[in-house]
Amino acid sequence: MPLAKVDVVVLGAGIVGVSAALHLQARGRAVAIVDRSGAAASETSYGNTGIIQAEAVYPYMFPRKLGEIAAAALNRDPRAQIRYAALLSIAPWIWRYFLASSPRNRTKIAHAARPLIAAALPEHRALAAASGAEALLRDEGWIKVYRSERGRQAALAEVEELQPFGVAAHVLDRPALAAMEPHLSEAAAGGVHFADPTTTSDPGALVNAYAALFAKRGGRLLAGEARSLQSAGEGWTVATKDGALAAREAVVALGVWSSDVLSPLGYRFPLGAKRGYHMHYGAKGNAALTRPVLDAEKGYVLTPMASGIRLTTGAEFARRDDPPSNAHLDRLEPFARALFPLAERRDDAPWLGRRPCLPDMLPIIAPAPRHKGLWLDFGHHHLGLTLGPISGRLLAEMMTGEKLSLDPRPFSAARFG
Ligand SMILES: Cc1cc2nc3c(=O)[nH]c(=O)nc-3n(C[C@H](O)[C@H](O)[C@H](O)COP(=O)(O)OP(=O)(O)OC[C@H]3O[C@@H](n4cnc5c(N)ncnc54)[C@H](O)[C@@H]3O)c2cc1C
Repeated sequence: MPLAKVDVVVLGAGIVGVSAALHLQARGRAVAIVDRSGAAASETSYGNTGIIQAEAVYPYMFPRKLGEIAAAALNRDPRAQIRYAALLSIAPWIWRYFLASSPRNRTKIAHAARPLIAAALPEHRALAAASGAEALLRDEGWIKVYRSERGRQAALAEVEELQPFGVAAHVLDRPALAAMEPHLSEAAAGGVHFADPTTTSDPGALVNAYAALFAKRGGRLLAGEARSLQSAGEGWTVATKDGALAAREAVVALGVWSSDVLSPLGYRFPLGAKRGYHMHYGAKGNAALTRPVLDAEKGYVLTPMASGIRLTTGAEFARRDDPPSNAHLDRLEPFARALFPLAERRDDAPWLGRRPCLPDMLPIIAPAPRHKGLWLDFGHHHLGLTLGPISGRLLAEMMTGEKLSLDPRPFSAARFG
């Protein structure tokens, strides 16, 4: 006998699942979240860079120039790290990513994603206000620094490319950069300040505050195994540590693990993992950072966080479940130390997160094509922290038949056949 019956069970308690649950709850649905950890933000939503990237327009695409491809393939470009032992397994996904990365597609994807991204920040502000988490947000924006003349040219070209989208981007020469972040070394020749994005000093705490709001409003977060999902009569059941849970509808918000539930149901979504690490450091003397700083030519970010200066790495291309490796962090740390006076490492080992990526770098926010009452909300790639709350709104509007605040077609599941 089922332990409990709810209207909707949300599978996954990362930022995407928690946000969907809150939006469904706000529309009168009785909702439970099931996560194998029994807690919120235990995976990727815990350890990211913490930028609510309201300024994002163009997605991270696979390189198309031969020189860049060769550098990446030979692990000569520190912005990415390839684990060769995994190459054969991940090659089909990389090939699809490469195909989706044509210049024409890049523009198409930017226009498709922009309305979702542009609406992301007000959604966070509303949830932060309701959950009393406003102190975790800060408004100084973030800075992309460049080191070389080539980097400066790329930064100027980017600023120009963003102009039609109304993104505020201020070019900083060396004195202007030093005035904003005085502890950056001369390795940073200048930068671009994106003033509009909000950042958080603790993404894990932010998602936990949202989850606490869900609980305060009567929602339950249960420890359970999403792979136990079964269709039962008009609805679904899931096994939890407290017994079986029955629900009329189910939402798959399992990040990079969404395929574990969807493959047995016959879906073959090309979901890959762009893995990334973080490490916290002290700062020497009185050195401090006010906001996240992306070292664009080397491909890592330094962010002032509650637990120290967090270095987050770019993409490691490996199998989802490969064990963590120190290689990418070890490669990037010397560049970071040359940019900012980092002191001791504060974590015993690098933290590993997995960005859930579909080849076109757009999420799926949609009904499952062949199962009534099953909904999909995953694949938020480099922008899941940013997009969780607005994706939750769009999904909840679809599920409750409300007027949609955005065009959902770019996020349909049907685009993968
Ligand atoms: C280094 C790094 C930096 C990043 N920086 C940013 C940034 O600055 N801004 C931004 O917007 N995004 C950023 N991202 C991306 C962002 O973190 C992710 O897109 C986002 O966290 C994905 O959220 P999610 O809820 O989909 O998945 P997750 O947070 O991974 O949550 C999935 C949940 O599913 C649960 N689960 C898995 N399998 C099962 C199962 N079988 N049964 C039950 N539960 C299960 C897990 O326990 C987990 O809680 C970054 C990512 C990385 C790795």
